[in-house]
Amino acid sequence: MADTVAPSAAKTLKVALLGAGNVGAEVARILLTDADALAERTGARLELAGIAVRSIDAPRTFPLPRELFTTDASALVRGADIVIELMGGIEPARTLILEAIEHGATVVTGNKALLAVDGPSLYEKADAAGVQLSYEAAVAGAIPILRPIRDSLAGDKITRVMGIVNGTTNYILDQMDTTGAQFADALAEAQRLGYAEADPTADIEGHDAAAKGAILASLSFHTRFALEDVHCQGITSITANDIAAAREAGYVIKLLAIAEKIDGMDDDGTETSGVSVRVHPTLLPRDHPLGAVHGAFNAVFVEAENAGQLMFYGQGAGGAPTASAVLGDVVSAARRLVLGGPGRTETTTGRLPVLGIDAVTTRYYIGMDAADQPGVLSKISALFAEHGVSIETMRQTVHTEPGDGESAGSAELRIVTHRAGEAALAATVKAIEGLDVINSVTSVLRVEGV
Ligand code: NAP
Repeated sequence: MADTVAPSAAKTLKVALLGAGNVGAEVARILLTDADALAERTGARLELAGIAVRSIDAPRTFPLPRELFTTDASALVRGADIVIELMGGIEPARTLILEAIEHGATVVTGNKALLAVDGPSLYEKADAAGVQLSYEAAVAGAIPILRPIRDSLAGDKITRVMGIVNGTTNYILDQMDTTGAQFADALAEAQRLGYAEADPTADIEGHDAAAKGAILASLSFHTRFALEDVHCQGITSITANDIAAAREAGYVIKLLAIAEKIDGMDDDGTETSGVSVRVHPTLLPRDHPLGAVHGAFNAVFVEAENAGQLMFYGQGAGGAPTASAVLGDVVSAARRLVLGGPGRTETTTGRLPVLGIDAVTTRYYIGMDAADQPGVLSKISALFAEHGVSIETMRQTVHTEPGDGESAGSAELRIVTHRAGEAALAATVKAIEGLDVINSVTSVLRVEGV
């Protein structure tokens, strides 16, 4: 017996597409041009019932039949089996997704901004209605990362996820690392090439990565995390000097979204566990797998108890790459609709508490501008010891020779610590800033991957 369904005999599923921009137009192209292959893979013909847009006559990246377009998204949603939301933004995307859920339609979206602010309530409504809500495209574009975490690793225990999940900031940091450019010049180049938007705030301040971090953490630890649970720091304060100093010490600076389980002990000796989710510029050893992710590429490094270390790498954005992730969700949803039953998309039985950044211990890199005079290093070492932060390496570069007797020369000091807590480190830095031999603390960055 043939193991494929003849396209002509297949059941038909009506697909409503909301949005025909960079991603939506590519999704429409694949649905129309690969219709037979998709029918064979799903056992159903995926009929593109219509495409809702703002302006029917706006130019499209792929020629699409005009009769498919409508500005009445709501009517389109009401008649659909599968709704693909690729409008972006909060409204009307949220209302349309809720309408789709109410009508029992399966929903596929790539809208990380909406999921970041309203994901938990949307997942709950979908679960309550018994419909599936999938969003593979919302994290790391083309990279299949959510389904592997949700399904392939469902029998394992994930301990840590570290991701380069924002291509714009990776491009900027990579440019700074490879060309020695300052942040502002690398950002301007990213904007010129279309990697960064005219208003780059969401990328460079880490908000986009934080939204993806919340999604990755929720699936990895079976606990719902919202955007406000993520400690977030962007890359705007990273200087060419930071990058050069990191390089000299064998590190590369990357903006990472990190979600990790932290086991601890209460004052009364009871074992406690929680999850910390954070986004910040991070020093990584240059030979770490994430250190080799260049340009606007994305990668997610997953550590699990039994699987060990896994790395997922690919294009994190772009019309066709992101459409690939959307279609993966659509095919999976169509298969479920053909076989019957929605299937559960995720579990939230972990119920782990959210830990603040204070619960994290990590290694730190501290750069400072100090007077070049005897006794400075011992004063600094004593302050570290006093606060219980142990120094792993200390490097000194003399900047200026001592003056003609009026002023001392200055030296750049770069210290990498052993693991320390946030509070101890902050207290150490504050105390160092108070030393009369310190001109300024120029950077404080976390070090991971060693
Ligand atoms: P886009 O190019 O801005 O396209 C948005 C589309 O939605 C346009 O076709 C627009 O219609 C339509 N639209 C917007 N507001 C509407 C409204 N109120 N009513 C009706 N139609 C409306 O966006 P995109 O880059 O394709 O991104 C779509 C989604 O995918 C976003 O959630 C984004 O975060 C996510 N995503 C994108 C990428 C990527 O590489 N671009 C990667 C991962 C995830 P008109 O064409 O008529 O203006």
